[in-house]
Amino acid sequence: MIGVMAAMIEELECYLKESDHAEKHVVAGREYYELKINDKPAIVVLSGIGKVAAASTATTLIHKFGVSKILFTGVAGSISDKAHIGDLVIGEHYAQHDLDASPFFPKYEIPLLGKTLIKACEEEMNAVVKACEAFLINIEKYVDRKDLESIGLSTPKIVVGDIASGDQFIKSKQQSDAILEGLPTTVAVEMEGAAVAQVCYENDMPFCVLRTISDSANEDALVDFPKFIKKVSSRYSYGILKELLN
Ligand code: SAH
Repeated sequence: MIGVMAAMIEELECYLKESDHAEKHVVAGREYYELKINDKPAIVVLSGIGKVAAASTATTLIHKFGVSKILFTGVAGSISDKAHIGDLVIGEHYAQHDLDASPFFPKYEIPLLGKTLIKACEEEMNAVVKACEAFLINIEKYVDRKDLESIGLSTPKIVVGDIASGDQFIKSKQQSDAILEGLPTTVAVEMEGAAVAQVCYENDMPFCVLRTISDSANEDALVDFPKFIKKVSSRYSYGILKELLN
């Protein structure tokens, strides 16, 4: 059974609206919904924002609900020319850009785990890429073209790339440049992915993070981000998950 995590309610509304038989379980203040997507069982949960919230939610999905894989779906800021607003980023390697236990450990290395980058499960990544391709072919089934156009989006593309997570909303070029200097392969920044990656790595759990680019992690982020969230982001994650579990 798949565990589906999202940081914000906007991303989950669509699943919950469609499913009238969702059984709700509350654990440590978070609501886990047991439901069916395309007749396949799933647990859907709002993790909340940030690395700690994401790590504790992933741990509960694994140990209390016995999921066999985890998909995190949400939005992210782009700090690379490879991805623009509206594009879909499937995370390949994950790093924590705010982790620094130097001089005891190299900057960004997870102390005692001896790892800086954690890689998503190849099989999950490929399945999510395929679902994104199917979603883009069928995009008009899920998203109103007028909504896409109203925020200046044309045809989104799929990018497989590296994700850096930290407990900060990145909203200036100075912040983005600092992340790129230390982690130059980063395509997207967000606040949860690398925490889920660490928990899944330590638990031998297949996982993947899928992010739609909502902003460019610069001075425009505070305007672009809410517009994107409101108009299209939930339709994206809903459509892609429907295609994934098809
Ligand atoms: N306004 C929101 C809070 C958003 S925090 C609220 O009130 O609920 C931003 C969320 O989107 C996080 O979950 C993070 O993972 C993602 N995100 C999108 N753009 C980001 C950016 N530029 N920097 C960091 N996280 C970003």
